[in-house]
Amino acid sequence: MRVPILTYHGVNIAGNDYATNDHVAFAADLDAIHALGLRIVPVAWVVDAVLGRATRDLARCVALTCDDGSNFDYHDLDHPQHGRQKSFYNALLDFRARHGAHAQPDLHLTSFVIAEPAARDAMDRLCLVGRDWMREDWWRAAQASGLVAIENHSWDHNHPCLTSPGPAGLVRGDFHDVGDEAKAEFEIAQAQDYIASRIERRPSLFCYPFGHVNDFLRADWLPRRGAALGLDAAFGDGATPATVDTDRWNVPRYICGWHWKSPEGLAQILRDAAK
Ligand SMILES: [Zn+2]
Repeated sequence: MRVPILTYHGVNIAGNDYATNDHVAFAADLDAIHALGLRIVPVAWVVDAVLGRATRDLARCVALTCDDGSNFDYHDLDHPQHGRQKSFYNALLDFRARHGAHAQPDLHLTSFVIAEPAARDAMDRLCLVGRDWMREDWWRAAQASGLVAIENHSWDHNHPCLTSPGPAGLVRGDFHDVGDEAKAEFEIAQAQDYIASRIERRPSLFCYPFGHVNDFLRADWLPRRGAALGLDAAFGDGATPATVDTDRWNVPRYICGWHWKSPEGLAQILRDAAK
């Protein structure tokens, strides 16, 4: 198994071409992955393989994730500068409509969302355009669709737009600072409970905000606390394919716009994974 896990951000909209818009890239990448004869599978299947608890053949597979849980994941929206944007969810439905359900029978996207309503509201006002685009009311429908899983991207992303220091002395803007019990409980454990209360399913996956992975969380707290919280794995941005030797608490991903910026860049990642 050498599965590239690809990551998109619904708020990455600076234009309407591949390099400037993650929605354009996502839709193009679905077709490109399919044209190469690769299979799209749920990222939870990759975790099952890392944990040695399933025997699915994951040769020539790709998994898809998206971060931060803006409304752009699920709803088509009118961007003030760049016009109508197709959500990741609707891009999956479009793919299905064009190719048929048999084309990618396990088509799936994992959406890592931010739990706390007040933090999402602050990000919406201060970092987006104040149109209430960080809501949670689509989570349940997305999860129920079977095409999307809602998972844990922390309580409040320890985002720099929040007042610093935060609870437990958190220095805002740096997830590396989540380095003790109180901070980890605040950022990860309570997010598990909140998201579970909204989708009637306990998240099983966590994704480090900013890709900031520290040794306390990766090698101590998550191995100790993860199982009790219902967590199977945590995701970083290591930019290598996931294999059976992957650290379950730092599963690598490739980030659109950073690790690749063009269809050719993605093709190179997919070729390297197939070696
Ligand atoms: Zn994030």
